[in-house]
Amino acid sequence: MHEKRVEGIVLKAIPFKESDRILSIFTPDRGIISLFVKRISKSRPAMVNLTTPLCRAEFVFRKGRSDLYRFIDGSILDLHLNLRQSYKHLEYGAKMLGAISTSQMPGKAAPSLYLLLLTYLKQLATFPDLPTLWASFQLKLLKHEGLLALEKSCSVCGKEALRIVEGESRCTECVDNLSFPFSKKEWEHLLLLFHAKQFDTFKHLSLDPVLIKGIDALYMSRLAS
Ligand SMILES: [Zn+2]
Repeated sequence: MHEKRVEGIVLKAIPFKESDRILSIFTPDRGIISLFVKRISKSRPAMVNLTTPLCRAEFVFRKGRSDLYRFIDGSILDLHLNLRQSYKHLEYGAKMLGAISTSQMPGKAAPSLYLLLLTYLKQLATFPDLPTLWASFQLKLLKHEGLLALEKSCSVCGKEALRIVEGESRCTECVDNLSFPFSKKEWEHLLLLFHAKQFDTFKHLSLDPVLIKGIDALYMSRLAS
């Protein structure tokens, strides 16, 4: 049996029988994998930590009979302890993990998204406005999946864009009933977050709650489509 060794971050840990866990792990080159870990007990705290969501670690495993891999060994790289100190930080960390779980297909490599997730989790500890950071993460995830293209001008006629239709930028005329409307100010903020290459460019931005909700709705609709 060939052993495999991968770095990954634990997205979910489902208890199984008395002391086993099935982990869902996001890896750069294999996407999401499922890993079966036997005999986790409180007398082995390192194993408990290793199999807890948000833990980034190196995992050694071998292939079982199904798509479920069997855990052999692992070493913790980062427990993200700085996020575990406050419920709010943990909540936003969990939202990001959840977004990966629901958007990624098992086995689909996503090295740039993996890096993006690690960078955002690192930012989360010190970023001033968590809802704004979360909104930016959602936009970047949609961009990564090719589900959103935000531009200054309408993708149909080239006029100033203020609407989103099926993930494309549109003016107020090239729309249908399912378009997402935004104000000029909101559109500026959307463009800023969507194209930002550094966190510094929006670190002092605190998005209006209405826009946060709008981005949430846009995100849900794009991933459901
Ligand atoms: Zn137009």
